[in-house]
Amino acid sequence: MKTSAQRAAETRRAYAFEDECVRSSYLLKRRTLKHLRSIATRLWKAEGRTDAIPIIEFGIGALQAGRRLSFCIGIKGQCRIVLAKPERNILTLLHELVHALGHEYAFHDVRFVSKAIAFYVRYGRCKEVELVLGANTLGIRVKMLS
Ligand SMILES: [Zn+2]
Repeated sequence: MKTSAQRAAETRRAYAFEDECVRSSYLLKRRTLKHLRSIATRLWKAEGRTDAIPIIEFGIGALQAGRRLSFCIGIKGQCRIVLAKPERNILTLLHELVHALGHEYAFHDVRFVSKAIAFYVRYGRCKEVELVLGANTLGIRVKMLS
C-alpha cells in the first residue's frame, strides 16, 4: 500500500501533467453548466455506463492550499461533481468524471492518468501521443492506449 506522501507526490505529478501538457483551448474554455452536463451525458452513454450519471453543479469548491478546487464526492452510482468558478471547463469535468468512475478523490496514480488521457483524447480533441510523451517526461509511466 502506498503512503500518503507517495499519494501526494502522484497527485502533484498528475496536476503538473494537466497544467503543462493538457493546454488545448477547447478543454480550457469556460463553459455553461448545460454544455458540461451534455458532454457528461454523452460520455456516460459512450462508456456504456448503466449506473446513475453524477450530479453536476457549479459551486464554491473545496479550499486547498489557498485555492478553490472542484471535486467529486460520493461512491459509484451516487456521485456529485462540484465545479469551482475558475474550473468550469471540459478539462476539469473530464478529470472529475474519472474520479466518478471509481478512482478515489485523493488518488491520481498511473491508472488515473491513463484513464484521464483516454478521456482527453476521446472527448477533448487531444492527441494521445503528445499526452503520453508529456506524462512520461514528468515521470508518469503511462503507455499508448491505441
Ligand atoms: Zn482529482
